[in-house]
Amino acid sequence: MAQLRWRLAGDDAGQGALFDADALLDRHVGTGEFADTEFLHVNAQRLINRVPASSRLPFEYTINAYRGCSHACVYCFARPTHEYLGLNVGEDFERKIVVKINAVEKVRAELAARRWAGAPIAMGTNTDPYQRCEGRYHLTRGIIEALLEADNPFSILTKSTLILRDRDLLAEAARRGLAHVSFSIGTLEDEVWRETEPGTPHPGQRVAALRRLSEAGIPCGVLVAPIIPGLSDRSDQVAAVVEACRAAGASSVSPIRLHLRPGVKEHYLAWLARAHPELTDTYAELYRGRSYLAKGAEPGGPAGQAAWAARRGLDSGSDWE
Ligand code: SF4
Repeated sequence: MAQLRWRLAGDDAGQGALFDADALLDRHVGTGEFADTEFLHVNAQRLINRVPASSRLPFEYTINAYRGCSHACVYCFARPTHEYLGLNVGEDFERKIVVKINAVEKVRAELAARRWAGAPIAMGTNTDPYQRCEGRYHLTRGIIEALLEADNPFSILTKSTLILRDRDLLAEAARRGLAHVSFSIGTLEDEVWRETEPGTPHPGQRVAALRRLSEAGIPCGVLVAPIIPGLSDRSDQVAAVVEACRAAGASSVSPIRLHLRPGVKEHYLAWLARAHPELTDTYAELYRGRSYLAKGAEPGGPAGQAAWAARRGLDSGSDWE
């Protein structure tokens, strides 16, 4: 326990807001389906976090009841948040999950504070609020109940079908114009899913969950994210996701290309070298000195499209159109 650098609270987008030490209460080694996971119970000092304006994110306030994520996506942007604790961005991020066990009572108190003006709050920005252990801790459900009681608008981003458990609350929130859900579905292909998002429900199940929530009157968008160069960026792959989600009732579908910020990039490229050594030179070129794809390397840009197609032995017309 002593080796943990236990200084966290402002935990959004890795902006380094390291203040307000949370209290580490105890550690629980999981059993049964959680046998490979350790849960670090903390009393968080603050749950509603304000995102720095410099982050340019489309939300101002966030709640993350967990830290770390058993969904274990190889490209996960949130991995470096574990480094602030003295844990690593690899297995520790996936198997040492911080659980803010006072999250529900804390959110309720913060929503009731006189200074809180009722701004929309985003969940799922730094960890999946419906990762597997939510089935045990029920923190996300409790937070939704608190948001409903306070009549406070919120959004949820998830890759999990566990969200169906809470469709009663979400339907009520949607009826009052308070809730919006987004599913992250970057691919429908088994192989790409299995190797890049090994701890998540199958994307086909996510599409089915999207349909059920939409039918319950809950507005659901989809982030086709991330679109991964060389693995899931062919136009037919992206079109398959878009079509399936549209047919399931998605209210919006937005593509997001893979970005690899420092800390994530090293982890991802090490994985790529093991899993797809044939792509390492291409990635070195695409992401050299940058976190985002260069303009000319965009799958949709004419030059990038032709170059990318040539690398992959495709007609240029078979890439993004
Ligand atoms: S579900 Fe989201 S937070 Fe969890 S590992 Fe995947 S990208 Fe990261």
